Amino acid sequence: MSAPFDPRGHVAAADELAGRVIAVTGASAGLGRAVALECARRQAQVILIGRDATRLDAVHGQITADGGPEASIAVLDLERALAGDYDTLADAVLERYGRLDGLLHNAGILGTLTPLEHYDVPAWCRVMHVNVTAAFALTQVLIPALKKSQDASVVFTASSVGRIGRAYWGAYAVSKFALEGLSQVLAAELENTSHVRVNTLNPGRARTAMRRQAYPAEDAATVPLPEALTGPYIALLGPASRGVTGKAFDAQG
Ligand code: NDP
Repeated sequence: MSAPFDPRGHVAAADELAGRVIAVTGASAGLGRAVALECARRQAQVILIGRDATRLDAVHGQITADGGPEASIAVLDLERALAGDYDTLADAVLERYGRLDGLLHNAGILGTLTPLEHYDVPAWCRVMHVNVTAAFALTQVLIPALKKSQDASVVFTASSVGRIGRAYWGAYAVSKFALEGLSQVLAAELENTSHVRVNTLNPGRARTAMRRQAYPAEDAATVPLPEALTGPYIALLGPASRGVTGKAFDAQG
């Protein structure tokens, strides 16, 4: 019997994602930016999704400078987007590419680290909306494009605090638990009826703005750079994880 699939330590081939169209949310900064750049380096056509056109332009420019396949930009504010905005994005994906082979839900917000007894309800709703409801809505409109792929992968970004509850992590922790559920339900619905697999990936500690917000006193030099963590994402978004669905993975540890 072969060992179960584990994306840690995956060594990607130079052209591992050639011929694939991969969308990344929150591609403007942090882990999403690093993974988007790495996907392009591995020859994917990347769709950069985010709310800040200037920052997305900079990532697009970097891909061009690196000699990667031409990327595209989809500006979508996950806090404010309405149904029509999601439909416009999905139509544009189908029109330009005819399919979608990878969808990484990476965008997220931390909210506040506060005891539930005192958690601000509007802040709670904002976190749940950006982290969960928007990911659901985006997945829903992109399912037709994913189904047109011969080998599609949806990845939701998890967190340690969304696998075992931790005090004060509030809506963020609960939103990450919800993503695990969303991933399992979607995986079960698409298994045997499509070529779409669905999994979650917990990146672990990464040196980003969100990490600084959560741990302002931490020595950043002790935290891995996002660029060091891209291998497991490539494994899950590419052919290495074909046939693996409904699972929860870690990028570190
Ligand atoms: P960053 O804060 O560095 O990046 C978050 C990304 O999400 C940015 O691109 C940001 O865009 C985008 N984003 C936020 N709000 C919206 C919105 N309303 N609409 C569209 N895009 C939005 O965080 P990380 O890179 O650290 O986090 C990436 C993922 O990894 C998150 O899901 C996080 O929960 C998860 N994670 C991170 C860990 C870590 O240690 N860093 C540990 C475990 C999980 P903009 O540039 O416009 O702000």
